[in-house]
Amino acid sequence: MREVHQDFLGDLTATDSLLSGHFAMTSGRHSDSFLLLPRLVAHPARLARWLDKLVPAVTAGEAEAVGGPALGAVALAWALAHRVGDDCLALYAEKTADGAMAVRRGFGPLARRRVFLVEDAMTTGGSLLKTQEAFEAVGSTVAGVGVLVDRRAPDAAFPLPVTSVLRLPMASWPPEACPLCQAGTLPLVHPKQLA
Ligand SMILES: [Zn+2]
Repeated sequence: MREVHQDFLGDLTATDSLLSGHFAMTSGRHSDSFLLLPRLVAHPARLARWLDKLVPAVTAGEAEAVGGPALGAVALAWALAHRVGDDCLALYAEKTADGAMAVRRGFGPLARRRVFLVEDAMTTGGSLLKTQEAFEAVGSTVAGVGVLVDRRAPDAAFPLPVTSVLRLPMASWPPEACPLCQAGTLPLVHPKQLA
């Protein structure tokens, strides 16, 4: 088991998906690490091993579709559904102008079934909750959630069963309590702006 864990950490290193430094998160908090999982997802053959760890959760939940929040999880949902098998659909929900998520593109009739949600990383689970609401609004029953990396605190709760490939709880602080700001040696990076 430990070797498998090392393999997955090795994938993050090999694909330069786990950054260390001084980062401003979208929540406003600062952290000493940041995951750029699109860099891992850009390696389909490596990604397949991660997704195979989530396949049993999809089948155990008797899900007939995988859905994720666009854009980050479009490729993930597609690739996971492909690993699950012939009758599993790949869908996605997308952001609306008011900051919620909605199922569009004519997916509505396809989404009236059991759907397993997938996302690359989970920090608070906020985008997954919005995605759940979007699928339920078109008649889906959400069977559970799968993430590549769970960054939540070990005692975090969520209303759906969560399956993760890797757990990497994230240290973060409000800016006024950030030890990296106080040390003043590492410049603050806004990782969403990285090319
Ligand atoms: Zn800071």
